[in-house]
Amino acid sequence: MHISLFIDGGWQNGADGRTLPVINPATGRTIGDVAVAETADLDAAAAAAGRAFRTWREVSVHDRGTILRRAASLLRERADEIAAAMTAEQGKPLAEARGETIAAGGTLEWYAEEARRDYGRIVPARAKGVTQTVRREPIGPVVAFTPWNFPINQAVRKIAAALATGCTLVLKGPEETPASCAALVQAMVDAGVPPGVLNLVFGVPADISSHLIAHPIIRKVSFTGSTAVGKHLAALAGAHMKPVTMELGGHAPVLVFDDADVNKAADIMGAAKLRNAGQVCISPTRFLVQEKVYGAFRDRVVDIVSRAQVGDGMDPGTQMGPLANARRRDGIEQMIADAVGRGARLATGGTRIGNEGFFLAPAVLEEVPLDAAAMTSEPFGPLALLAPFARYEDAVEEANRLPYGLAAYAFSRSASTVAALGRDIECGMLSINHHGIGLPELPFGGVKDSGYGSEGGSEGLQPYLTTKMVTVLTE
Ligand code: NAD
Repeated sequence: MHISLFIDGGWQNGADGRTLPVINPATGRTIGDVAVAETADLDAAAAAAGRAFRTWREVSVHDRGTILRRAASLLRERADEIAAAMTAEQGKPLAEARGETIAAGGTLEWYAEEARRDYGRIVPARAKGVTQTVRREPIGPVVAFTPWNFPINQAVRKIAAALATGCTLVLKGPEETPASCAALVQAMVDAGVPPGVLNLVFGVPADISSHLIAHPIIRKVSFTGSTAVGKHLAALAGAHMKPVTMELGGHAPVLVFDDADVNKAADIMGAAKLRNAGQVCISPTRFLVQEKVYGAFRDRVVDIVSRAQVGDGMDPGTQMGPLANARRRDGIEQMIADAVGRGARLATGGTRIGNEGFFLAPAVLEEVPLDAAAMTSEPFGPLALLAPFARYEDAVEEANRLPYGLAAYAFSRSASTVAALGRDIECGMLSINHHGIGLPELPFGGVKDSGYGSEGGSEGLQPYLTTKMVTVLTE
């Protein structure tokens, strides 16, 4: 497998022919390589995006939508093939990879439709003969950076919103998982996206971001990844007065009250923890459970997690694949060791599995002190932290303790508790009594250190549009 750069309508190698290896996390073995973009390639991609913007913005929103919908159909037709490539390079079970590919079709269709509904406004004038209009215009060529955990989902949100509004894009895809991201780009191209409108580069992330964010052709920056990198890129963009969308890390609390359906809460959140081996920014992490039901909830979650079938994502029986790379596996091991060293109790998991690949048994920790690394930094792996709470106020205080504010979950049958949670939890997305986050028609994003700007919902269009006021006296 060799994955190239896609610049101005053609697949090509980097100017110096450099490549990076792509590794199957289930075996630890190299399965291919990906081209590295040099400065000349980045300049070519930015120039192509700049040229294409002049014509793409003039294509009607209806015609742009037709192309996006066609790409959605192609992704569905190719889902099996793309899913196999994603599992081989990323590790997630085949069913999750297939689901991600199919869901990308839904995202493309949502934006194809929603972009048609950005109408602008006519504002009543004070003087006779004056017409005041508020026009919404595409912001221009965008640079976007997307990570390896959802190689298609993270990229398609940015591609769909940018292209639907008439923007063009240089996407820096994930070097760790380039094949499935490239397959997404190929589907867009086969659907009729013209040369230059969508460009895909890979390489050294810091080199690409410092060059393209500063590039005069680029008008907007969108990033999905860690908070530390997000802050760095937001500062770079700020120096060049470019707006940014930042979809960063989280440390999702789960508040389970004693009037909840405790078994249902454990089943839904236990399954959510295992999804993509916990490498999900909205993965449930701090399980805060009211004292009376703590034991029952704990036993059920530990049972779910300890019985999880961990294995190669290609095997149909696998519930959880390997961690994406050795760094992530080592990071989770270190967090567990740190917590246990500070007095936490490991209820299950945390051990390596097999002799190859980056497999780790999903883990549950109890009695974790607040100064443990796991209680302050995003684990980004299969680690659940359980703690009892006494009163509503205690749970909310702990939920809001961290600088993160992405997803939060709660389970309660009390209407007043549900209403209060909607007001009190500091987060961008709150899902109560089910897992309902991540649908194309709903805004997806965070507050505080989890970033700003939405992807999804009608809010997802806004970052790609500028507002222009035009006032005309016609008499
Ligand atoms: P990392 O911080 O090294 O990289 C995260 C992402 O940022 C990667 O896609 C990487 O290519 C990119 N990146 C890193 N430096 C960059 C730079 N200077 N310019 C542009 N892009 C850059 O971490 P990692 O080990 O790959 O991932 C683990 C951490 O990343 C997690 O702790 C998690 O917080 C975060 N992450 C978040 C998401 C998300 O969905 N929000 C996805 C993947 C990773």
